Amino acid sequence: MTTAELTQHLKAEALRLGFDRVGIAPAVSPPGHAHLVNWLEAGHGAGMTYMHRHVEIRRHPDALLEGVRSVVMVSLVYGEHVPESSSPVHGKIARYARGLDYHRILWDKLEELLAWLRQQCPGINGRALADTAPLMERDFARLAGMGWIGKNTMLINRALGSFTVLGAILVDRDLVADDPHFADHCGTCTRCLDACPTDAFVSAYQLDARRCISYWTIEHKGPIAEEFAGELHGWVFGCDVCQDVCPWNRKAPAGRLVELQGRLEWSDPDLIEWLDRDENAWRTALRGTALVRTKRVGLVRNAALVLGQRHVAAAVPALARRLADAGEDPVVQAAAAWALGRIGTGTAIDALRQTCKSTDATVRDAVAAALADTTLESETGQPG
Ligand code: SF4
Ligand code: SF4
Repeated sequence: MTTAELTQHLKAEALRLGFDRVGIAPAVSPPGHAHLVNWLEAGHGAGMTYMHRHVEIRRHPDALLEGVRSVVMVSLVYGEHVPESSSPVHGKIARYARGLDYHRILWDKLEELLAWLRQQCPGINGRALADTAPLMERDFARLAGMGWIGKNTMLINRALGSFTVLGAILVDRDLVADDPHFADHCGTCTRCLDACPTDAFVSAYQLDARRCISYWTIEHKGPIAEEFAGELHGWVFGCDVCQDVCPWNRKAPAGRLVELQGRLEWSDPDLIEWLDRDENAWRTALRGTALVRTKRVGLVRNAALVLGQRHVAAAVPALARRLADAGEDPVVQAAAAWALGRIGTGTAIDALRQTCKSTDATVRDAVAAALADTTLESETGQPG
């Protein structure tokens, strides 16, 4: 089989396996690497220390596969648009995390494609990557002609939009590379930059993770900084705002894979119910989902902060129980204290004064700060 025939059959096989797009890039130094280095040096990677550790590996894919010649890039569209709930008790989860964990699904398909390739080319050396090793996937997807990197820093495909996940297979064979996608179809649009609720874009194509809701709700462990505790805007895991507003997503198709469709419990979660859910129920609920990354502690912390930001008086009893529970994680207790202070009703203030028996300094400080900041509000949760 010629290289051209192999490339053609490989692409057909990828589409047969259910990938929405496939493209081939040469194994070169990704053009965005210098940008990544500057981004990290500017501190825009926030507490993601693994980004610093992996920056050298990202310089060239030969750090991941010796003798690599080609990068096969694939994409899968996930989920679909679901109208937002207007209830203040319900939280928002990024679309990619509402179904089963995409990593597993992507991985299985990539391994199938690699097995097919090994059958066609005995002796070929290849490695599948589904976020499992540091590769600059968006850069390689662009080099493989699959789209451009928009001002919101996401890979955008004219037909598919940006709600896609990317996977890669590195191989030590030459394949026919696609034409890189040099065009940028953002034009004069600035919707994503304007819509970001926390002004996380320093400029077009420059995201400061220190201001990004996705970073705080997913990546950050421990209490959320005071400046952002009240800035989650309903998001309890990730944030889709800068993609939701993008015109290229308006007519994008919904994902075809049923496994990546959002489950009802994650599309419209009841945050008060989350506060009282026990460990076992959480373990069962999180199994097989990407939400497991933050674990129960991160999700309940975020839920408490969202309920506090929205002044949900009905959440006071459940927040008081979290604060008073001696076995509770201090991160959750501190978030509950912050939320009670923000809600500020008489019952919330009573809970702050009476229920905390924690000896943890974080929690005691959070209670003291919440009480100090609180001005008495009416039982309806409206500022007095
Ligand atoms: S994910 Fe949300 S917070 Fe982060 S940059 Fe996009 S709109 Fe802003
Ligand atoms: S919203 Fe506009 S500027 Fe932002 S990524 Fe989409 S097209 Fe580009």
